[in-house]
Amino acid sequence: TSFGFRDVADGEKQPLVNDVFHKVAKRYDMMNDLMSAGLHRAWKDGMVSALNPPPNPDYRVLDVAGGTGDIAFRIVKASRGLAQATVLDINGSMLAVGEERAAKKGISDNLTFVEANAEDLPFDDKSFDAYTIAFGIRNVPHIDKALSEAYRVLKRGGRLLVLEFSEVEAPILDKVYEAWSFHAIPLVGKAVAGDGEPYRYLVESIRKFPSQTDFAAMIERAGFSRVKFTNYSGGIAALHSGWKL
Ligand code: SAM
Repeated sequence: TSFGFRDVADGEKQPLVNDVFHKVAKRYDMMNDLMSAGLHRAWKDGMVSALNPPPNPDYRVLDVAGGTGDIAFRIVKASRGLAQATVLDINGSMLAVGEERAAKKGISDNLTFVEANAEDLPFDDKSFDAYTIAFGIRNVPHIDKALSEAYRVLKRGGRLLVLEFSEVEAPILDKVYEAWSFHAIPLVGKAVAGDGEPYRYLVESIRKFPSQTDFAAMIERAGFSRVKFTNYSGGIAALHSGWKL
């Protein structure tokens, strides 16, 4: 790559990612605000308003790589406290913070926390009305596996929404963003978690993630219909949507 880092082999990726999130779990929410300058909140709000979860106690959402619960909490709120959300993450430390936050918000009854891998979901076929994943899919070593698992666990008529860092459209914004992510993100990581190196891998994973159109094609290959995307903040992030019809 242009940064001169060695490529990380497939089998080494998940342990690196797990190490980062174990270290930062307790400070993850603060770091998110620092690293995205607060923008992640607006992007997540956008994702949940696109989903528009109905006020229906039978509506079941699976939020994969759900971490400390940001997406699931918004979904419960948007459904007027009625939807059931399952927060799934490979990292127990992140889930523990999420469970604590849910209890403080008084919404534990709407939530289930499951420690598992996005590549191998512990659910029956056709179990969920919606599958969401925010800033998680680029951390999964085999994205195609995660997408086919998403397809499998969704009911017919179910919705897939993926929020992820993406390809910035404007060349100038691109340069600013590149400088920001290359310098600021590892720096914040170092200040907060005592080690900047793991964050370089995360920044690399953003650079390596497919463009909006390439990722849309991957979603189609997994079987989804009516696939489209919306850019946020000039493409710093993008929301992809698809349906299991
Ligand atoms: N969705 C949350 C949010 O937007 O705030 C958390 C995003 S955080 C950047 C990425 C999350 O992906 C971490 O909690 C990490 O443990 C999780 N993750 C990484 N690899 C995973 C995998 N293979 N399966 C499930 N979760 C995974």
